Amino acid sequence: MSKAIIVGAGIAGIATAIRMALKGHQVEVFEASAQAGGKLSEIRIGSFRFDAGPSLFTMPQYVDELFRLAGKNPKDYFQYEKLDTICNYFYEDGTLIHAFADPLKFSEEIADKTNDSADSILDFLNKSRDIYEITNQVFLQRSLHKLRSYLNIGTLKSLLRFPQIDAFRSMNQSNEARFKDSRTVRFFNRYATYNGSNPYKAPATLNVIPHFEQHFGAYFPIGGMYSIVSSLIGLAVDLGVKFQFNSYVDEIEIRNNKVIGLSCKGKSHSADLIVSNMDVWYTYTRLLKGIKVPERLKKQERSSSALIFYWGINTSFPELSLHNIFFSEDYQDEFRQIWEEKGISSDPTIYVHISSKSNPEDSPEGSENWFTMINVPSDTGQNWDELIKVSRKNIIEKLSKNLGKDISKLISCESVLDPRGIDSKTFSYQGSLYGSSSNSQFSAFLRHANFSSSIKGLYFAGGSVHPGGGIPLALLSAKIVDDLIK
Ligand SMILES: Cc1cc2nc3c(=O)[nH]c(=O)nc-3n(C[C@H](O)[C@H](O)[C@H](O)COP(=O)(O)OP(=O)(O)OC[C@H]3O[C@@H](n4cnc5c(N)ncnc54)[C@H](O)[C@@H]3O)c2cc1C
Repeated sequence: MSKAIIVGAGIAGIATAIRMALKGHQVEVFEASAQAGGKLSEIRIGSFRFDAGPSLFTMPQYVDELFRLAGKNPKDYFQYEKLDTICNYFYEDGTLIHAFADPLKFSEEIADKTNDSADSILDFLNKSRDIYEITNQVFLQRSLHKLRSYLNIGTLKSLLRFPQIDAFRSMNQSNEARFKDSRTVRFFNRYATYNGSNPYKAPATLNVIPHFEQHFGAYFPIGGMYSIVSSLIGLAVDLGVKFQFNSYVDEIEIRNNKVIGLSCKGKSHSADLIVSNMDVWYTYTRLLKGIKVPERLKKQERSSSALIFYWGINTSFPELSLHNIFFSEDYQDEFRQIWEEKGISSDPTIYVHISSKSNPEDSPEGSENWFTMINVPSDTGQNWDELIKVSRKNIIEKLSKNLGKDISKLISCESVLDPRGIDSKTFSYQGSLYGSSSNSQFSAFLRHANFSSSIKGLYFAGGSVHPGGGIPLALLSAKIVDDLIK
């Protein structure tokens, strides 16, 4: 039996461990933290529970697939509900758009609340589906760095349709050409943030993202997002995977251009293959001693990060649902500040996620757990303490104005996470949520491969080595690694 070691128990690390165990490897996972899940973790403050990172769950089929591969019924381990209303969008002029999951109902909602027609929305969703169909096999399911990925009929057909993926103008240019109303443009531009990009620079190909939500649907796991992790850990343990927590890996050991093991807390552990779920930048700069960081990796722009306030709120707001967005009035300026000034707008777009709306045990009766997040630049040494102080005040003012109540008086407990904390908690370079950004049409090809071309037995899984972003793509990176390993 060959031995596979996974560095990191993020969602991609766990999925890789399951796949390696199913392949017949003896699998051990070393995780630096005391808890599995990486960015997908949970925190408790007093009687409140919060999912610390991701909150929007799409493409649950990639979680289910892992149970099915193991011959189990996913429902015995993990359950989730489809959302009828994906998100509420609040605009400064008082407009409130409900993003209904049903495409017809959603298109009528847009026609009712903006100057755009229902048909323009349905046309857009069809275009989004077309981009998905063209890019899915090429960008999402296979390694972009293996010739064999391109040598099949499906991929060749997709390549012939490439001019249709709208890669040569920005997402905003495409959306402005399609929609009359700036509120609709803002609505669809926001999807660029789903992989930490800038809609005013990123190619319109990213208009594929709404398809994930509007076609496949948005879901919420019973028990909260963290149950994705706990259920998969349960499966991995059933399959014989061993987890070592509080175990930061210091070095991947290499001899004759082949991995031979790793060292953790001064002890060597031998392995036939190693999959690093650590951000690929840190894998090179911290674990691969004496190996140069590839030039391409050095040049890549990092994706954006997040500033999050976890607030216990001692009342409830019936007008809010599980996911809520409060748009900035000047969306373009917000992104200019993030990407050009490396700062934060005084009127940021605010995302409020309240898991207790679906999972009442997450907060005491009569209260709510607010995960309040804004997009911010990655950490390049800004004065975060000052930015947090100013942003907290701006966020409270904006939410209080929109909701007609002084939010500052309702906060009963608080914890804050900023890019420095995301970096130090999950070893994500500069606190970027998705590795490098997708702000250019070449970004997908410039991402590091899921394997090392110079070190035999070394593979990479996770958000930093997949051209997409988020949980589904991290899970797909594990599938790609699985396909690469014989
Ligand atoms: C605030 C926030 C909001 C988000 N919102 C969403 C959302 O709504 N929907 C969505 O789909 N996605 C969202 N994402 C993105 C999503 O969380 C990530 O894409 C995904 O969780 C990445 O998983 P991963 O396995 O690649 O890496 P990570 O979660 O970063 O896991 C890496 C793991 O490796 C461990 N590790 C690293 N180095 C070492 C080492 N040397 N030794 C041992 N262990 C090590 C780390 O401790 C960590 O546990 C969000 C992320 C954040 C932070």
